[in-house]
Amino acid sequence: MDKAIVQKIEKVVGKDGYSTKTADLYTYGFDASIFHRTPDIVIQPRSTEQVSEILKIANAARIPVVPRGAGTGLCGGAVPIEGGIVLDMSRMDKVLKVSPADLWVDVQAGVVYNDLNKVLDEYGFFFPCSPGSAEACQIGGMVALNASGMKAVKYGATRDYVLGLTFVKADGEIVRAGTRTIKDSSGYQLARLMCGSEGTLGVITEVTLKLAAKPKGSASALVAFDDVHDAGRFVSALIARPLIPASCELMDSVSISAVNKSQGNPLPDCEALCIVEVDGEPEQIERDLRTVQEVAKENGATEITATHDKKQIAAWTSARKSVMTSLSALKPGYSSVSLADDMAVPVSKIPDAVSAYQKIAEKYGVTVATYGHASDGNLHTKMLLNPVDKDEWDRGVKAVEEIFDATIALGGTVTGEHGVGISKAPSFQKERASALSSIIAIKKAMDPNNILNPGKLQQWEGSILTNLRYPCEEYM
Ligand SMILES: Cc1cc2nc3c(=O)[nH]c(=O)nc-3n(C[C@H](O)[C@H](O)[C@H](O)COP(=O)(O)OP(=O)(O)OC[C@H]3O[C@@H](n4cnc5c(N)ncnc54)[C@H](O)[C@@H]3O)c2cc1C
Repeated sequence: MDKAIVQKIEKVVGKDGYSTKTADLYTYGFDASIFHRTPDIVIQPRSTEQVSEILKIANAARIPVVPRGAGTGLCGGAVPIEGGIVLDMSRMDKVLKVSPADLWVDVQAGVVYNDLNKVLDEYGFFFPCSPGSAEACQIGGMVALNASGMKAVKYGATRDYVLGLTFVKADGEIVRAGTRTIKDSSGYQLARLMCGSEGTLGVITEVTLKLAAKPKGSASALVAFDDVHDAGRFVSALIARPLIPASCELMDSVSISAVNKSQGNPLPDCEALCIVEVDGEPEQIERDLRTVQEVAKENGATEITATHDKKQIAAWTSARKSVMTSLSALKPGYSSVSLADDMAVPVSKIPDAVSAYQKIAEKYGVTVATYGHASDGNLHTKMLLNPVDKDEWDRGVKAVEEIFDATIALGGTVTGEHGVGISKAPSFQKERASALSSIIAIKKAMDPNNILNPGKLQQWEGSILTNLRYPCEEYM
């Protein structure tokens, strides 16, 4: 990077506020996706004003800027695919104010999800989205991806909690959008526009989140099936009852056997299972657990275990969370990769989606595990590939294209919570074809010089098999 630019940056953030060291640059070239590209500089701002000054410098010199939270994104959103600046938000990590009487909390964008909930716990509240990356992911990253997690069916996604936020536009202008009121009809909902913006419209520096009251208690049931269609029917029937569970995680047979093999058989050996959590007042929990058991029996469950035992529930949750790593341990030399990783379909279409994904996997000779937040229709698929073998990637990507096409045909979306980034860009463009011209116009209006996270989402062109983090020569 040009020395004069580095000097200007140093004036804004000081000597310890940036790095151009090779090791740092290499490290910041990754997120949790399959991609890698080294930036030219990493900057760690401490305030909205510093972010604004950095963006003024970058905009004048047309340098790409990629905002970065914890880098746990699975689709390449934080990978600086065109080089330039990575703006690491982790030093803006303060919970600024909790206002329980008004039901909001103000945070800086770099606050980690679990750290926020530790603070809110003291007040009897929580921010319930519960992503699997809760220990690391940041609120800014969650807003930028509209992240959610296991509890979305009952508690919603990040966008449902964003009352207002501060962001910095590409030209350095600081914008406060939204309010600190529970209701707001004051024109364009700009704060909502930033939800799912993936670092392409502005850098989020502060967020006002609505608080949710913590439930009094919870209990869980593990329900086993010998047919994945029965599991899918069970989830739809439960919701239609109506019983909205706190969460309902589905695992298919590939996921179950991968976990059992690598974790010492924590789960029953079956074709499909659901782990259902219900929460609320004690009487409601008991009533809901009974309903879960009834509906499970009506839909062909082969085994039902209901429990209040926190240890047992933690063991099931940990088994479910270990699918990704367990899959990588299934076959020596193979890795679980995030290709088609979080499609969402209408809940009633889950069995069709799981069957379609399994057929596509067979057609292309790849192993695909399907699991996820079944009660909100969000299915994760992880693919097991030999990541140094070009042919495996070629087959994998063809399978992924068909998986996305099948999802769209079922009335679904290619991403329920992980965002588009690079890996879903071509299918996102298909899915949102009728909105693309509006999306392009919004981006142009907010960032006319195209410096913010360029080349992703609607701007991606060509195959996604490029800049892979794995030593597969043809696609590095
Ligand atoms: C093991 C594992 C489990 C996961 N489970 C879930 C899950 O259950 N649900 C879920 O939704 N996701 C999940 N994810 C994906 C990911 O962790 C989340 O989506 C998370 O919200 C990303 O936050 P981050 O801070 O790591 O963002 P990053 O990965 O750093 O960035 C993600 C995107 O947001 C942009 N961005 C980051 N910060 C800002 C900012 N301040 N301003 C503007 N743009 C910004 C980046 O440019 C990038 O495009 C999981 C990931 C892993 C590795």
